[in-house]
Amino acid sequence: MNPWVWSIIAIIAFLLIFYNRSVGKRVGEDIDEIRNSLYELRMSIKSLRADWNLKHAQIQVHVLKMAKKIPDDRDPYFITRDCIACGSCVPECPTNAITESSIFEIDPGLCIACAKCAKVCPVGACVPLTNIDT
Ligand code: SF4
Ligand code: SF4
Repeated sequence: MNPWVWSIIAIIAFLLIFYNRSVGKRVGEDIDEIRNSLYELRMSIKSLRADWNLKHAQIQVHVLKMAKKIPDDRDPYFITRDCIACGSCVPECPTNAITESSIFEIDPGLCIACAKCAKVCPVGACVPLTNIDT
């Protein structure tokens, strides 16, 4: 074959390899960016959910006290976002106030603030509701 033809084929092959490499690199960077964005979104949802749970528990306690369902001086416990879902607190609770759905939660209507859950929690996630900064 004519040497010119070989030269042209070699140049085209080189350009194709170069193009594929730069496109591949860009795709890899885009995937990393999407992965980071998804992680941040997941963290934001988790944080929003924790805030919502806290507000919900505070309102529940307020309503329970207004309705005289629990004593005014009782400070039910709450499981914060620090929970690592180890499950150690569940069998300790004398009133079965702790349940696990997608997260561990305390029913403020059942909690008698005995602090037994807090004693076994490895990460200090069981705290009296009024001790939590909003
Ligand atoms: S403080 Fe006592 S009653 Fe309340 S959730 Fe913890 S273990 Fe149960
Ligand atoms: S003991 Fe603490 S970390 Fe473990 S499930 Fe209960 S609240 Fe979460």
